[in-house]
Amino acid sequence: MSEQKRIETGPDQEGFFGKYGGKFLPPQLERPFAEIIEAYHRIANDAAFIAELRSIRKHFQGRPTPVYHARTLSRKNGGAHIYLKREDLNHTGAHKINHCMGEGLLAKFMGKRKLIAETGAGQHGVALATAAAYFGLECEIHMGEVDIAKQAPNVSRMRLLGAQVVPVSFGLRTLKEAVDSAFQAYLADYENAIYCIGSVVGPHPFPMMVRDFQRVVGIEAREQFQELTGNLPDGICACVGGGSNAMGLFSAFLNDPCAIYGVEPLGRGPQTGEHAATMTYGKEGIIHGFKCYLLQNEDGSPAPVYSCASGLDYPGVGPEHCHLKDLGRVQYVTCSDDECRDAFFSLCRSEGIIPAIESAHALAYALKRAREMGSGALLVNLSGRGDKDLDYVIENWGLGG
Ligand SMILES: *Cc1c(COP(=O)(O)O)cnc(C)c1O
Repeated sequence: MSEQKRIETGPDQEGFFGKYGGKFLPPQLERPFAEIIEAYHRIANDAAFIAELRSIRKHFQGRPTPVYHARTLSRKNGGAHIYLKREDLNHTGAHKINHCMGEGLLAKFMGKRKLIAETGAGQHGVALATAAAYFGLECEIHMGEVDIAKQAPNVSRMRLLGAQVVPVSFGLRTLKEAVDSAFQAYLADYENAIYCIGSVVGPHPFPMMVRDFQRVVGIEAREQFQELTGNLPDGICACVGGGSNAMGLFSAFLNDPCAIYGVEPLGRGPQTGEHAATMTYGKEGIIHGFKCYLLQNEDGSPAPVYSCASGLDYPGVGPEHCHLKDLGRVQYVTCSDDECRDAFFSLCRSEGIIPAIESAHALAYALKRAREMGSGALLVNLSGRGDKDLDYVIENWGLGG
C-alpha cells in the first residue's frame, strides 16, 4: 500500500464521506440532531464512557468474540483457508448489540428516558429492547403490521424485554412505513427521547457513530488473526445490508495490504429485479435523510427490494461504503439466494455452526474467492447466528439432505 494514499476515516464536519452522507432533515430536527452530534463528540473522548462501554462489552455481551479457523470447511472447499469472526456469539446472537449498547449508553448520558426506533424483521428491535432493559430506559419500536404477522417470535421477545411494539397500519405496512412512523414519534417527543438507527445509515452523525460502536469487531479480529497466524489475512469479507457489520470489520483493515469484499444480496438474480444489490445496481439518491447509492424508481423514490435475508433488503446503503467503492478500496460483489443456501448448509455440516442467512452471503462469496485464490487466508465476519431463520430455512430449503 506504500504507493497508495492513506485512507482517512471520515466524515467531514457536515457528515459527508466524499459526496455521500450528510443530513437532510426537517427543520424541527436540526436542533435535536445537533445535540446528538455534540453529545457524541463529548463521550467519544470521555474516559468514563469508554470504560463503561468496555465493561458492558466484556461482562454483558460476552466480548471478545473469537476468531475461529474453519479447518474442515476450508479443506472441503479447497484453496484459501477460511477464518470466522464469531459475532454470532454475542448476547442476542448478532453484531447489532454492539451499536445498540452504545446508543443506549449515549441516551443515558444525554439524560433521555426513551429509545425510539423502527424494525423490519425485528432484529434491531430486539437488540435495542435489550439495551433499553439494561439501562432502565423506555423503548418504543415501530413495526409494520405485515412484519408483525411474519415475525411473531421477535415481537414476543421485544415485549418480554419490556418494549412497546407500535403496529404501523398505513401504506404497505412494512419497513419504510415503520421508519416514517418512528420519525413522527421522535418529532413529537425529542426532548425525552432519542432515535436509534439500526445500521451505518441515516442522517449524520449515525453513520459515523454506529461505525465507531462497531469498530470493536475489526480491532479485535485484526489482533486475534495476527495472534493465530502471525500474519494479516489476504482478504476480508462481510455482508452489506445497511453496512454496519461490514464497516466494523473493514475499519481496522483499510490501510493494510489486504483485499476487502462487501457482499450484497443478489436475491433471485439481476434479471428478475428481485434483489437488493444497491452498490452494484443503484445510483446516487437520497433516502431517510442521507445521500447514497440507491435502488430507485424512475421518480427517484426507493425501489422495492428483495433478499432471502430480511436483514439485507434495504434499497440504500451506508455512505462510507459508497465512498469506499468510489475510492476503489473495497470491492462490492454479490451473492444470490441459491449461493447463500449452499454456504449455509456447508457451514452447518462442516463446522457445527448455524449461521444467520445474512452472514451466509459473506461466507458464500468467501468460499468462491478461496477456490479462485488457491492458497492464503480469508477472514469472514459471521455477523449472526441462524436460530432466527430456522422456520424460513425448513420451509424453503428443507434440511439440506
Ligand atoms: C441486521 C443484520 C445484518 C445487516 O445489517 P448491516 O448493518 O448491514 O450489518 C447482517 N447480519 C445479521 C445477522 C443481521 O442481523
